[in-house]
Amino acid sequence: MASLEASPLDQRLEWDTPLFLMARAQFEQAVPHADVPDEIVERLSFPERAVIVSVPLRRDDGSIQVFPGYRVQHSTVLGPTKGGLRYDPEVSLGECAALATWMTWKCALLRLPYGGAKGGIRVDVRSLSRTELEKLTRRFTSELIREIGPHTDIPAPDMATNDQTMAWIMDTYSVQKGYVVPEVVTGKPISIGGSVFRREATGAGVVMVTDQACTRLGRTLPGQRCVVQGFGNVGGVAASELHDRGAIVVAVSDISGGLHNEAGLDVPELHAYVAEHGSLEGYDRCERITNEELLELPCDILVLAAREDQVTAANAAKVRASLVVEGANGPTTIEADAILADRGIPVVPDILANAGGVTVSYFEWVQDLGRLFWDREEIRRKLSDKMSDAFDRVYALADEKRITLRQAAMAAAIREVSGALEARGIYP
Ligand code: GLU
Repeated sequence: MASLEASPLDQRLEWDTPLFLMARAQFEQAVPHADVPDEIVERLSFPERAVIVSVPLRRDDGSIQVFPGYRVQHSTVLGPTKGGLRYDPEVSLGECAALATWMTWKCALLRLPYGGAKGGIRVDVRSLSRTELEKLTRRFTSELIREIGPHTDIPAPDMATNDQTMAWIMDTYSVQKGYVVPEVVTGKPISIGGSVFRREATGAGVVMVTDQACTRLGRTLPGQRCVVQGFGNVGGVAASELHDRGAIVVAVSDISGGLHNEAGLDVPELHAYVAEHGSLEGYDRCERITNEELLELPCDILVLAAREDQVTAANAAKVRASLVVEGANGPTTIEADAILADRGIPVVPDILANAGGVTVSYFEWVQDLGRLFWDREEIRRKLSDKMSDAFDRVYALADEKRITLRQAAMAAAIREVSGALEARGIYP
């Protein structure tokens, strides 16, 4: 029985926070449909390793400030761990543990030879200068030097980190090792071994599975009225792809709030505005709405591409989309999931919908290890093949077991990890 209760006191661990309990509850809901042995379930309920570091930074004004940093590695059953680093005021051990757990299921579902990890620094990047950000990133890399590596744990971008952050990590790691190691991170600039199409991969993957979900629901993507929460690397790219494929993007939002136009927003113009002003703040060529209003707009497709904990017990009954797609990790709480399922609204879950990013990260790592490079068309085709294969397996299992897409995606992923763990056994 899935439970949001913390472990009994004598077993309570530091990562037993609401988000981690949600990740574990999703796991427990899927286990009965995965048909795997109990001892495997017990092992996979806990992250393998967690590291907390304190990262000192000399600020531009000469003062010293210390920031907490984290890296959680959930599973090494299928290979080295993989997952993003986020810079955000909400970063905590529990958040990283939840996100690392989801990365394990995401990689397994896509049949990538990785386990999951996630980390980051608790910091508001808007309070730092570029020099401070670089110094903080380099010192954080140095603190994690024993944890990360091309065959142990391979970071990538996440919230408020990007290709420049990865370049600083790659350079710091390489300088400390004494030789160049491009394959220690993915999501790098193309000039130092990054992959073409990595930046667009998460958002493009979101739209690939949205398109497939539409087909299953007897609809076609062109003409679908879409609301996209979030206008960053995931939501911004998803909005463009939707727009390019003939869907009508009626609302988008970012940290400054939401924009709404029933006739459809001019997505390229919004991108041009953000490139000039840094965010959507001040854009006045359409109605401005709040984030809460955006989630409750009538539409065909709601893409949740902002952050965790957005559709909750408080607003799930008010969602008026007929398909929800999770571009972010963990945007729908466990209570909201049940409400949406009762209302017959399918949710394409995060571990499937946003897996395009880590999938092209895998292609980047393979290219770096092999010192060979594929072109954009090849990457796009390989990504599309991987996403549609995973999508078809999830749909088939959901149909067979009469369960939600999330339960099916989780169960399929748990089977992958379980098969490998049974073969390897528990050491000693
Ligand atoms: N941070 C991204 C995610 O949540 C990408 C991880 C990666 O590419 O390793 O999936």
